[in-house]
Amino acid sequence: MATNKRKVLITGGAGFIGSHLAEKLLQKGEEVFVIDNLSTGRIENISHLRKNRNLHFIKDTILNKKRVERLVSRMSQVYHLAAAVGVKTVVEKPLESFLLNLRGTEIVLEAASKKKIPVLLASTSEVYGKNSKLPFKEEDDRVYGSALQSRWGYGMSKGGDEFMALAYCREKGLPAVIVRIFNVIGPRQTGVYGMVVPRFVDQALSGNSITVYGNGFQTRCFAYVSDVVEALIALSSHHKAIGQIFNVGSDEEISIKDLAKTVKILTASPSRITFVPYSKAYGQDFVDMEHRKPDISKIGKLIGYRPKVSLEESLKIIINYFNAKK
Ligand code: UDP
Repeated sequence: MATNKRKVLITGGAGFIGSHLAEKLLQKGEEVFVIDNLSTGRIENISHLRKNRNLHFIKDTILNKKRVERLVSRMSQVYHLAAAVGVKTVVEKPLESFLLNLRGTEIVLEAASKKKIPVLLASTSEVYGKNSKLPFKEEDDRVYGSALQSRWGYGMSKGGDEFMALAYCREKGLPAVIVRIFNVIGPRQTGVYGMVVPRFVDQALSGNSITVYGNGFQTRCFAYVSDVVEALIALSSHHKAIGQIFNVGSDEEISIKDLAKTVKILTASPSRITFVPYSKAYGQDFVDMEHRKPDISKIGKLIGYRPKVSLEESLKIIINYFNAKK
């Protein structure tokens, strides 16, 4: 018997956020297609979902245009999450990151625009660059440093993706929604690509030094992954979100030094907190963002978004997850 189940495609669905999104959409009874080349995504992230007959996994790159076109044409919704992951990847592989973000997105958007299939584009808080006006509002300027500093390639490429999605929306009638995701944390996130929370938790639990880069006065706001994923789903189906950009994240700010102290306390760890110069961590030309905080009033007004899980609760869940893995 034919079913009317909605078919959704998640590019990068074996990644940290993508796998949580896949889980949530399956719970909602949708048929979920994941395309991921497993370069930074991991099959273990979705292995607990693979007995669900509504999950289909395709191991391939989004740069495979024919494959993407065929897949997208059968979908009711596309969540485009596949991209270069983490500051470390972008600094170490700038060319690959830049091309994947721009070409990959072009392929996905072009394929979706043929049948006007709704696309939610996952962008990033990196697009604000080093703008020092806080908190960041969606219409604020994007401020980048020299092209000789590889970090800016990430924000530039995702910024290019945003322009492309808006242009497809305006000129080709593609229903596209853009979300600028701020720092997200939760189980399955790995520290391998530089992300601070899994790194600190891992260091604290194994008794190694907790490595704060710079002086630790830089601040971030960390959102729990389930809050973010629910927001993506709500935005993707809201007609007033089309052609719009939304910040998604938490507005609870913490310095990285205080984050290190909190992780040390919550894990009851004997680890020392050490300060590592940026040049040692990322090389000479590296520049960090001092502060990063989203204004989340726009998404709050449209879908009633407010982060539910506090930083402390999130850290406890992540610590339990790391302990259970041992
Ligand atoms: N960071 C740190 N120690 C680490 C990894 C990261 O102090 O082992 C810092 C990093 O320099 C930045 C903050 O933590 O100031 C958040 O880094 P992450 O890579 O998680 O996210 P982003 O820089 O994209 O906000």
